[in-house]
This record gives sequence, structure tokens and C-alpha cells, in this order.
Amino acid sequence: MLKFQSLDGEPGGKVLPVGGKAGWGVAFGWMRDNKGTMEFCDLKAQYRRLKARVDARMQAVLEHGRFILGPEVRELEEKLAARVGARHCLTCASGTDALLLALMALGVGPGDEVVTTPFTFFATGEMITLVGARPVFVDIEPAAYNLDPAGIEAAITPRTKAILPVSLYGQPAEMDAINSIAAKHRLAVIEDAAQSFGALYKGRGSGNLSTIGCTSFFPSKPLGCYGDGGALFTNDDGLARAMAELRNHGQAERYLHTRIGINGRLDTMQAAVLLAKLEVFDEELAQRQKAAGAYTARLQDAVRTPMVLADRTSAWAQYTIEVDERAEVEKALAAAGIPTAVHYPTPLHLQPVYAELSREMGWKRGSFPVAERAAERVLSLPMHPYLTAEQVEAVSEAVRSAVGMAVNRG
Ligand SMILES: *Cc1c(COP(=O)(O)O)cnc(C)c1O
Repeated sequence: MLKFQSLDGEPGGKVLPVGGKAGWGVAFGWMRDNKGTMEFCDLKAQYRRLKARVDARMQAVLEHGRFILGPEVRELEEKLAARVGARHCLTCASGTDALLLALMALGVGPGDEVVTTPFTFFATGEMITLVGARPVFVDIEPAAYNLDPAGIEAAITPRTKAILPVSLYGQPAEMDAINSIAAKHRLAVIEDAAQSFGALYKGRGSGNLSTIGCTSFFPSKPLGCYGDGGALFTNDDGLARAMAELRNHGQAERYLHTRIGINGRLDTMQAAVLLAKLEVFDEELAQRQKAAGAYTARLQDAVRTPMVLADRTSAWAQYTIEVDERAEVEKALAAAGIPTAVHYPTPLHLQPVYAELSREMGWKRGSFPVAERAAERVLSLPMHPYLTAEQVEAVSEAVRSAVGMAVNRG
């Protein structure tokens, strides 16, 4: 830790190499600073490492005082666009607002339908409903838990306006297949890349794989700020202009309103935090990858471990296994001091608020069997760039023993 801070404090000082002789976690002093506790996503360890650059970036904002759409916002947008190779990046107030702004820019509204996955965070369906359109769910494929292209065409009607795949847990959805179905039916594709910023699909950056890509900078996402934040990507000049105006009350110029929009801007302060974190993002992605590899090596003979398809990478927003007796395994891990989470326990078609939609569409339990089975079995383990080898080992051992206990009792 101390070693790291001094390295970090030097202007232009380089960051520690990933996986040096001392082991990746030991280098960050995780064991020393977090004795006895384990965090699901350790933002404090990250701040200790990045303190000098984050503080300097935030201090600069306090001093120039341009808190709304200040220079850091533009700088961040340029860097993010370059990173994914998109013509345009527009930051916004959250991943949820990114989805809302994308749908608004495409003119999706009452009477329209959007094909999407039922196995996602609620915001994906929620924003479709909020603009007055109807989410039409299609089941996922079991390998990566993403929208199954094989089911999409049967769900398309004359009212369909867009397809909204989610790149769940950090792994891009089957974008080529989805884009070609969309092209055939003249539909837009919005990638919900809230969990997958930093991942690659056939060498291209997640977020820049379709008409519009949406991501989130919620603190625990792979690239997170210190509050809410999000971004939109597109290569379409007209959509970029629309989204830029929509996020700022539909203003084409100051006090000249040409659209009904929202207050959906990213704070300059959050842009400053993200600029500091972006400097080490590639290294952090490599550390997540290393932790994921270590988990898989220790767990693949005991539980169903995540599958990353050959033509893509994962940003490892989550490391999610499947287990038979999930409630028991969760309880055993909690007793061992290991935090876990379920992403997500209830598919969208079974959410109380969608009871009426499901009645109308004839959806019930059993309608999307792959999603429903996953919702009952998935369990996410601690995952962040500052996990130590010892922690991965401890979590893996606890999972192996919990699974063994569940099997013996079952
Ligand atoms: C986090 C997330 C969102 C919402 O992002 P916020 O920044 O929290 O609004 C949307 N979709 C998915 C898949 C997410 O994981």
C-alpha cells in the first residue's frame, strides 16, 4: 500500500505491474488493510491507490467552479469515444438516463415495442415502459446469459422499433447476429453496456457495437464514479445531436428549446473522478481478468463457472457461478464472512409491476425457462481489481465446502 501510494504520488510515476512476483494482491496491501473483512466490491482499496490523482482532479474542479458541463466533461467524452472507437460520446447522469435518452432520441414511444431480455437489472425494461413503449421479452442463451438471437425474429411485429440486448456480467451480447436481424427488419439496436464497458467483441469496444450503446458509471460498475453517472455512444451525427440536446432540457442553444428533454447531465465532479480512474482502467481490467481466471481454475470442477465466448472478452462486472442449493450456499458463505449477491433473483416478466403486461402477453412462470432457471441458480462472488490471491483462494475454498455441504445434506 505505502509503496503504491509513493509510486502513485510521483508525477508520471508508473503503476505497479500486474501480477508481479509478490502476487497481485500483496502488492496492494489488501491483507494488511482489510484484515478480517472482505468486500464484494472494494472501492476503498481503489481510492487508497488512486487518492493522489482523484483528489487533484476534484480539487481542480473546485477551483475552476464550472460544475455543470465543465471542461472535464468534454475531456472525458473525447477520451471515452476514442477508447471505444465511436464518433460520439455523450455523458449523462446515470446508466438509466442513458437508456432513456437513447429511446427518446430514436423516437420510441406509445404504441411501439422493444425486444429485450427478461434477465437483467430492472432499468432495462423500466425505461422502455417509461417512454410509453412495451418491452417484449425473449429468452436468453444459457452460455453467457445474454439475449438469444434465435428467439428474436418470432417476437418482431410491425410495432417493433428496436432491439435492446444487455451485455450481462460484462460480456458483450451476440451483437453481429442481433445487428443483422435488426438490419433485415430496419430496427435500431441499443446495447445496454452498463456492465460491459471495457469489454471487447471481435476486437471492438462494447458500447460501440450498435446504433447506440449505453453505459453506467454507478460506483460498483467496472468504471465507476463517486455517485451516479452514465454515457451514450453512437456513430450517427443526428442521434448524437439529439441526445446532447435531450440530456440538457432539449436546448439547441441556451434558452432555445427545440425538444422536450430532461436534466440528465453528468456532473463535472464525476467526470473528474472518471478521468482519474480511466488512467488505470486497463490495468484494473487485467486484474479483474486475473481474479476471474484464478476463481475458474479453483472452481470449475465444483460448480458451473462463467463461460466467456472465444471472440470476446468480459469486463468482469460480476463473477457469477451457478449452484444447485443456492440459499444454503449463500448462507454458508455469509457465515464464513464472504459477501455474495444474486444478479438477479426475479426475471422481469415475473416482477409485480409487469403483472398486467404479462397477462396481456400470456407470459407466466415457464415462459422464459433459461432466464428463470438462471435466476434460481446464479450467485455472484466478490469481484474487483484489488482482490488478493489469498482472498480468491479463501472464497473458492468456502464455495467448495459450501457446495459439498449442500450436496451431502440434500
Ligand atoms: C447498472 C445497470 C443499469 C442502470 O445504471 P445506473 O447507472 O444505475 O442507472 C442498467 N442496466 C444494467 C444492465 C445495469 O447493470
